[in-house]
Amino acid sequence: MKQIRNLFPILKREINGKTLVYFDNAATTQKPQSVIDELVNYYSNENSNIHRGVHTLSQHATEKYEETRIKVKQFMNAQHSEEIIFTRGTTESINLVASSFGEKFLDENDEIIISALEHHSNIVPWQLICEKKKAKLKVIPINEKGEIIIDELPKLISKKTKIIAVAHISNALGTINPIKEIIEIAHKNNIPVLIDGAQAISHFPVDVQDLDCDFYCFSGHKMYAPMGIGILYGKKELLEKMPPYQGGGEMIENVSFEKTTYNHLPFKFEAGTPNVGDALALSTAIKFIESIGYDNIIKHETELMDYCTSEMEKLGFIKFIGTAEHKAGAISFLIDGVHPYDTGIILDKMGIAIRTGHHCAEPVMNFFKIPGTARASFAIYNTKEEIDTLIKGLIAVQKMFNS
Ligand code: PLP
Repeated sequence: MKQIRNLFPILKREINGKTLVYFDNAATTQKPQSVIDELVNYYSNENSNIHRGVHTLSQHATEKYEETRIKVKQFMNAQHSEEIIFTRGTTESINLVASSFGEKFLDENDEIIISALEHHSNIVPWQLICEKKKAKLKVIPINEKGEIIIDELPKLISKKTKIIAVAHISNALGTINPIKEIIEIAHKNNIPVLIDGAQAISHFPVDVQDLDCDFYCFSGHKMYAPMGIGILYGKKELLEKMPPYQGGGEMIENVSFEKTTYNHLPFKFEAGTPNVGDALALSTAIKFIESIGYDNIIKHETELMDYCTSEMEKLGFIKFIGTAEHKAGAISFLIDGVHPYDTGIILDKMGIAIRTGHHCAEPVMNFFKIPGTARASFAIYNTKEEIDTLIKGLIAVQKMFNS
């Protein structure tokens, strides 16, 4: 653990005179030195625009960018590297599908199904295309534990259902959704499925062929890579049928004022100069995850989740929001009589970073009839000692407001 922590320079920082305890990993993870070095190296030695250059730098950058695509393909076990589209992150990946798939396949009165557990990024893009196409959004309900009520899904499906979009893991509650079951039900009805994997990819391996999902989206910055780079995986036969999302350089085959023809996959969906430096650093982040191994990540993070939950239970004044049987990555909670914002502010004074608020999942908060929660979320570099510090912090908050 000491070796792993040493790879993350920011973990040595002091915040308000205390060693940083970083429990806001669901918002973004910290970056290992290797990822930072990759960025510095790219801009110090390799920076060049790709694909169109004959000179050495451009060719070298193009090679490394396309090698990264192959790396991501292997990481997700996609069948073809053209199925990997570089985006700015999960939000852009979902917007791309909602806009392009919606443009091609959605007609008036058609239906899209999402769940009541979604991040705004997996709600609003669908609302936008529904508005444009006069289609309807249907929502799979959740129970009091914060779990999708899967039995309701078949009742929502109709001949008009064109796509189902659900999160792999809820960012607000940490619930792991039964996405394999959802995909099976959807495919029996010939409906494609998009999985929002923003919260899953850093916690366990994702095999898109095994899942048989049609689209899978994630953000680099939530898996130790920089901000501004993300991935859309899409099945080739679907992506091929979809129109371009944005127009510009690189996504074309030929341009004339009379008629423009589009490039083949994946370039059809990558208009303009791509984020080469961050893509290369994403490759380094994948190598970092592989060097630790998902088995070790799962073992360590499960221990952290279990330990933190049981230590919080012992306090007697914590109300858990989201008590699903299968959870990963995050614990959402409230202290009786204390606004979550105050909890966050007091903990920050002690150097402890958690997130408070609606976590971009207002419908989840509305379901529980609360304005927000406090959320502690974990990564590979967190320790039980840090959880002990959090528990001491929570006792101090409780004393300050409730004694
Ligand atoms: N989906 C989920 C479940 C998330 O947790 C997040 C970010 O917190 C997003 C989508 C949006 O990710 P980004 O802001 O990186 O595009």
